[in-house]
Amino acid sequence: MKIEEFSPPDEGVEIKAEMMESWLNGRTIYSLSPKVMYDIQTILRHYKDIIVPGENVKIDYPNDDNGARCSVDNKKVYISTGHLEKGYVDETIGHMIHELNHIKMSDSERQTWATCYLMLEKVLDSLFVLEDPDDSESDYICLRELVMCDPAMSFDNLYSEDSEELKYGNFLRKALADIAFLLNAVEDIRIDTLCAYNLKKYINAGDVRVFSEWNKRYEEGEFNDNTLMNICYRLLFHHKDFIHDPWIYKVYGDKGKIVNSTPSQYTPIVLETFKDAIKDHVENLWGNVVEIPRFSFGSTAGDMYLGGMSESGNATLSDIAGGDSNIIERAQSDVGEIRFAESALRDPSQKKDGGAEFRMAQEQHSKPRIIGSPMMAAIHSFHKIQVYETKEKLSDNWGEGSPEVDYSVVVYDALK
Ligand SMILES: [Zn+2]
Repeated sequence: MKIEEFSPPDEGVEIKAEMMESWLNGRTIYSLSPKVMYDIQTILRHYKDIIVPGENVKIDYPNDDNGARCSVDNKKVYISTGHLEKGYVDETIGHMIHELNHIKMSDSERQTWATCYLMLEKVLDSLFVLEDPDDSESDYICLRELVMCDPAMSFDNLYSEDSEELKYGNFLRKALADIAFLLNAVEDIRIDTLCAYNLKKYINAGDVRVFSEWNKRYEEGEFNDNTLMNICYRLLFHHKDFIHDPWIYKVYGDKGKIVNSTPSQYTPIVLETFKDAIKDHVENLWGNVVEIPRFSFGSTAGDMYLGGMSESGNATLSDIAGGDSNIIERAQSDVGEIRFAESALRDPSQKKDGGAEFRMAQEQHSKPRIIGSPMMAAIHSFHKIQVYETKEKLSDNWGEGSPEVDYSVVVYDALK
């Protein structure tokens, strides 16, 4: 994935940095110079010490194509340059605080991936398509067998966007990411509610802006249908107290329960509560993303499908879990109780999915930008500046009243 280079906001762009400015004795920030970028990084490193003390978490600007995704598992947080480019300084700090709270409180990425994988497997196991779509007399085959019995099924092929090894890779990636989006919405409610009061104000800055964009469409009814993505946003804004959504209130309205439980406690409940929306969503994805293939059951395909399905499924799960039996067991307990009725795949629904569009726009909007080498060097040069405090006597008169002067010495340590 090629990422664009960061360019500081133009002069006309308002820098929204009210809270950041309070750190600078109220000095107004007019532009995002390397010095300001350095200050932002310094504040974030300070907050890191408060949120996850003792953890070695790296907070840096992305400077290559790989360096853009925050990672709970790798303890890395990349400053959201997409937001900075638009002048949203406070919001960027809020976003980073949010990511640090994920590191502190959330499941590992592998756990989420493993749980979502098993959930998707269950959904696909309940869906059946005609072997020959043009012949209604032909046999039905199970989508799970069709999609997941791919010999190329592996963690790497599933989770690297560029991999084209899997026949239905794009469908699988999208379905997995969207189930994860639901779990993430609940986790976001939990960690933002639990966030320390003095840090939460930064998070609110982003929430207020995104909500104002979202709410116009909500009021126009774009999110009324219970599609998975619509539910995610309504869930989020309902439990962040921006709206009162009667349906969310009815089916999953107990915020105290979300906040006072761990992911392992709430995940099975969330998946059970919204399982029909998840199944609908997967069906729609199949209908929209995948060109319905014409299956020809030659000998090779037949052999493939006959090969012990559950075995190959477990192998993929184990690969996703990195062989960690705790992750596998947790994923199994997350989805173990969930049951779906078997059904033939329906035509894509005509529900209005404002959530899917909104999410795409948001992702586009907050896409990371790489900091180019010259700017990176300029930002890092401020790390080399040290201020030493010292006292000095100005005379050798040891008598009373001998003057002692405080000095601050600024040292630029080029070797640092
Ligand atoms: Zn989050």
